[in-house]
Amino acid sequence: MLNNEKNTENKSLNAIRVLNNVNVKFNDPLPDVHTARIPIASCGWVDTADGVVLIDTLIRRHAAKQVKERIKSKIKYIIYTHGHMDHVGGASAFLDDKPEIISSKYLPDRFDKYKMLAQYRAHINAVQFNVPETLESIKYVYPTKTFLGEMTIKLGDKSFELHTTRAETDDACWIYVPEINVAFIGDLMIGRHFPNIGNPWKPTRFALDWAKVLEEVRAKEPQYVFCNGGGVMFKEERAIEALSHNIEVIRSLHDQVVDLINQGIHITEMIHKVKVPQHLIDSPYLRQLYTRVEFFVFNVYRWYHGYFDDNPAHLLPRPEKEVMNEIYDLIGDPQKILNRVKELFNQNQSQLALQVLDVLIQIEPENIEARKLHIKLLRALAAQDNCLMSKNAWVYYINKDTKFLKSEKNGGK
Ligand SMILES: [Zn+2]
Repeated sequence: MLNNEKNTENKSLNAIRVLNNVNVKFNDPLPDVHTARIPIASCGWVDTADGVVLIDTLIRRHAAKQVKERIKSKIKYIIYTHGHMDHVGGASAFLDDKPEIISSKYLPDRFDKYKMLAQYRAHINAVQFNVPETLESIKYVYPTKTFLGEMTIKLGDKSFELHTTRAETDDACWIYVPEINVAFIGDLMIGRHFPNIGNPWKPTRFALDWAKVLEEVRAKEPQYVFCNGGGVMFKEERAIEALSHNIEVIRSLHDQVVDLINQGIHITEMIHKVKVPQHLIDSPYLRQLYTRVEFFVFNVYRWYHGYFDDNPAHLLPRPEKEVMNEIYDLIGDPQKILNRVKELFNQNQSQLALQVLDVLIQIEPENIEARKLHIKLLRALAAQDNCLMSKNAWVYYINKDTKFLKSEKNGGK
C-alpha cells in the first residue's frame, strides 16, 4: 500500500510538471473544427471565412501558446464555456489579436471569488487532486463582454448561438453552430464520465437545470457534440445517446432525492438509498471515476434543504470536540474504543470504524495507536474506491497521519 500511496503522490507531482511542460495533442475532427488536448484540459476552435472563434483556452499559458501557434487566422472571439481554471487558465496566450472575450454575466464573479478564497482553494485542491498545497499565481483574463440568456454572433459564413445556463456552475455557456450542426457544451458532459454534480468541497451544482439544458442541446439534434473544451467528441446517434443517458440519470437521481426529502429521510440514510437506474449502471457514458452518486445526493440535498436535519440536538450544537469529550469520558478507557474499531475493521466496516475512532482522534490526536489504526482504515477505504475525488481524499489524510507518525518517531522534529 505504501508504494501505492507514494505512486499517487509521485503521480500528482508529475501531473504538475506535465502541466508546465506538456505537449499538446491536436485533432481536426471536421474541416472547420479543430481541437487541442492536454491530460486535464481541452479547447476547440472553428474557422470561418472571416477569422476564428476559440472555445476555451486550456489551463496554462505554456500549452495555450502551442495552440496559438497552430491557429493561422486571426482570433476574433474567445468564448468561455465557464470559469473553471481548466477552461480559462490559458487565455493570456491569445490576446495579441485583441479578441472579444465572451462569457456568462456571472463569470467575473467567479474570478473574484477565486481571488478572495485563494488560501482555501489551495487547501481543497491539495485534498481533491492530491497535489502540493501551494498558492498559485494565476493571471485571470476577464471577459470583455458578458451576457445572460441567448446571443448570436455572426462571423464569416457561420453563426454561433450562445446560451447561458446553470449546471456544473452558475456561469455556464454552451454554443451551437447551425451551419455545421455542431454543439460545444463545455462540462455539461465530462466525456464518458458520470456528470460532475456534487463535489464535497464546492458549492452546490444545479442538477435540475442541468438536465433541462441537456434536453435543449438534444432538441437541436446536433450531429457532433464536443465536450469539455472540445477534447471529447460524440457523433450522430452516439451524441444523442450520450445526452439521453446523462439526462435520464440526472432526472432519476434528482427525483429520488426530492422524494426522500419529502419523506423526511435523514441525509446519512439518503446517500445509501439513492441508486442509478439498473439499465444505466453499465452505461459507457456514466463511468463513476471522477465523482460518485453519494456526492450527487449531498449536492441536491444541500440545494433544496437547510442545514437543520430535524434533530433538535443539531439546531444550535456545541462544538463537536466538546461533545466528543463527553462521550470519551463516559467510555472511560481509550482501549475500549481501539478494540471496537479493530472489531469493526475485521468485519469490513471501515467507514463505521472511522467514525467511532473519531471520538478518540479528536480528543487524543497524538495517540500513536489511534493514528496507526486511522491509517489502516483509510487504506481499506481507498483500496475499495474507484472515484478519484474520494480516493484522493483518503490518500491525503493517510499522508497527514504518516507525516505525524514520522515526526513523532523523530522526536517531534
Ligand atoms: Zn468545469
